[in-house]
Amino acid sequence: MTATETRKFEAEVAQVLHLVTHSLYSHKEIFLRELVSNASDACDKLRFEALGKPELLAGEGELHIDVSWDEAARTVTVRDNGIGMTRDEVVANIGTIASSGTRRFLEAMSGEQKADARLIGQFGVGFYSAFVVADKVTVLTRRADAPAGEGVKWESDGKGEYALEQVELAERGTAVVLHLKADEDEFLKAWQLKSLIRKYSDHVAFPIRVPVEKDGKATGEWETVNDASALWTKPKSEISDADYQGFYKSLGHDFNDALAWTHNRVEGSQSFTTLLYIPAQPPFDLMMGGRDERKGLKLYIKRVFIMDAAEELLPNYLRFVRGVVDADDLPLNVSREILQHNRQLERIRAACVKRVLDLIEKLAKDEPEKFATFCKAFGNTLKEGISEDASNRDRIARLLRFASTRGEGAQQNVSLDDYIGRMAVGQDAIWFITADSYAAAAGSPQLEAFRAKGIEVLLMFDRIDEWMVGYLGEYEGKKLRNVAKGELPLDEAEKKQQEEAAKEAEPLLKRLKELLGDRVGDVKVSARLTDSPSCLALSDYEMAPHLARLLREAGQ
Ligand code: ADP
Ligand code: MG
Repeated sequence: MTATETRKFEAEVAQVLHLVTHSLYSHKEIFLRELVSNASDACDKLRFEALGKPELLAGEGELHIDVSWDEAARTVTVRDNGIGMTRDEVVANIGTIASSGTRRFLEAMSGEQKADARLIGQFGVGFYSAFVVADKVTVLTRRADAPAGEGVKWESDGKGEYALEQVELAERGTAVVLHLKADEDEFLKAWQLKSLIRKYSDHVAFPIRVPVEKDGKATGEWETVNDASALWTKPKSEISDADYQGFYKSLGHDFNDALAWTHNRVEGSQSFTTLLYIPAQPPFDLMMGGRDERKGLKLYIKRVFIMDAAEELLPNYLRFVRGVVDADDLPLNVSREILQHNRQLERIRAACVKRVLDLIEKLAKDEPEKFATFCKAFGNTLKEGISEDASNRDRIARLLRFASTRGEGAQQNVSLDDYIGRMAVGQDAIWFITADSYAAAAGSPQLEAFRAKGIEVLLMFDRIDEWMVGYLGEYEGKKLRNVAKGELPLDEAEKKQQEEAAKEAEPLLKRLKELLGDRVGDVKVSARLTDSPSCLALSDYEMAPHLARLLREAGQ
């Protein structure tokens, strides 16, 4: 046995600890969900490694998670017989900032966005939630393939330092012992712990057990508190809405209900199950632009967790989806590299996309309120699909909603189909304007002529719109045209009128061109305006003014 070694947390870990303990104060109890979730991940990892090395499962066979307490010592312990950690892994995983998630967590929590407990589990900082209720945490862990003498004891009061020691541990796996703070006695009660397990961890796929007590004394027996089955493998008829929501919450580390879900089993030459959820609010990684590794879609093969495979299973524009895919026919030893070029996986991916689009279409058709929530949360993300997923471009376009000169203010609830349904006889284009804000779009002088002629114009003011319509080009055979570009639709009489006006104005135009010189491409008489005397217009091939400005700002 070696002497105890004391080390300092990385500066950022100390910061994270401080933020987590303060922001979670009103949701203290989620420490249990987070520790159980880590224990469950550890069991998943062991089962996966044991596919190639069955001997790892020797000894304590069945994978499980035990939650116990000691009133005299005032401790709560969460123990699993999963993969465990080596000394190096302990240092890397719970003493340093291993994941970029932690850094993003810091950015988000110290920025304008206020500390939000809802997000903790989504950052990969769940372990630190132990310090919300404990003033000292002890971790005892031994990796499944390490001998008993190579156990590790990690201990910290969460104030900047931790101690490491090599210890003898008879069993593999990890025990996290919480030494409760003075006023946290509520967590020493069996009924309280059981109800928290049922509330937050019912759908963890491993048994979560608590000691059976008789007359206040432990009997040495254990009882399983949670449902402990893989929810997605049950027939739909046996799953209640509450079950689906409970599973979603533990899967997505979300406090809120999911907005909708779709659960399907495909049988045939290739069999697989998908259970996919749309959250009601943007998950954290979405708010940050989704630039890091994507999480939230778990790939199982015959009920064995293989890996987080959101990127392999869903395109980027559907990155808000959470869920599980369980495939029967993929080889259990798949690697990420194999997945990326796997024909079977391509088919599963296409099925996932189809299911999600089906689900959104169903919301649009049958549940207007939920659909409005969806559009608000993910409408802009979905727009990325117009360029990313050419094969589903029409389906996606049909689901987009915009503000319009015939709509209700800034509300984005006019579909392209609505627009086409209201088009005047002879109108052959879908007209739109892009701007920085609703006010700028709705107040633009470019709209005057369209108003006068009674032509509806879609008002687009999201950053992505200009780019999106560029890819869309047309919808249902109708060109999408920017009101600021090119010529207006004129009838014969109007054309004649304009020619005459142009002739009349020739001397004026000549003079204006001389005055403005290089600053304009041309000066023309236009039917564009009815009230304002003049405006800037673009030729068909020029960039919209605010896009040009965006690019300038980006230094292009
Ligand atoms: P996340 O679970 O999102 O990675 P956490 O802060 O909850 O973030 O955990 C940090 C890391 O610590 C985990 O990724 C894992 O490597 C390690 N860890 C935590 N608890 C356990 C456990 N019970 N068994 C094995 N490893 C664990
Ligand atoms: Mg975790």
